[in-house]
Amino acid sequence: MALNSRYARRLRARKAREQGGRCLYCKRRFTGDGPTRPTIEHRKAKMDGGRDRVANLAAACLECNQHRGRQMNQARQRAKGRPEGAPA
Ligand SMILES: [Zn+2]
Repeated sequence: MALNSRYARRLRARKAREQGGRCLYCKRRFTGDGPTRPTIEHRKAKMDGGRDRVANLAAACLECNQHRGRQMNQARQRAKGRPEGAPA
């Protein structure tokens, strides 16, 4: 994860505050730790041309962030005709 700097932590806190302390996707209230702790989410994934610009970022809970990443990976693997879970 590239966004691991002090700047990223401030940004994550700011985004979380802007969203009323809730996840962008599931709207659960962020917690300090665990599956509902805030993470920075790229609205448009970097590999799809998204940038690390503030407007492209949002706060999502860890669970949603990971879930979304998995879905995108599975979609890519299907597109390549590789069975789910097969080694790259
Ligand atoms: Zn969530």
